[in-house]
Amino acid sequence: MSESATPVVTPPPQRLYTVSCHCGGVKFQAQMEKELTKGHRCNCSSCFKTRMWVHPVSDLSTFKMMTPEENVSQYVYNTKMCEHYFCKTCGTQTHMMGDCPGYGRYILASINCLEELTQEEFSNIKFRYADGINSNFMDVPKYTNHL
Ligand SMILES: [Zn+2]
Repeated sequence: MSESATPVVTPPPQRLYTVSCHCGGVKFQAQMEKELTKGHRCNCSSCFKTRMWVHPVSDLSTFKMMTPEENVSQYVYNTKMCEHYFCKTCGTQTHMMGDCPGYGRYILASINCLEELTQEEFSNIKFRYADGINSNFMDVPKYTNHL
């Protein structure tokens, strides 16, 4: 009789990040991987035009808005599976939320809106490209230099 052992998965080290828009009208905190290894740049119609570079929030329960909700505006389009949030004053897109079949509820924070990172730390963040224009978010698009 064999007994299957449950593999022990150690979660990567986490950090509570503060994310804010350009003017400070929108600010939130959320827990993400300390090393930010899951960042991605997508070629979908929205990410392409806004040059979004995002990272998933690890624990959605840690998402805490620190500024009034009325400072934020929401934009949804097409399938309406992803809500894009941006500051009503400066227009900076700070995060996205949605519920994706096969993935579940998610929050993506704009990496460029992270506070307290040096330019060197930003330049060392690993990221991958996502082929969102073809709804293949797990695949790398054929062309990436412009993303
Ligand atoms: Zn703003």
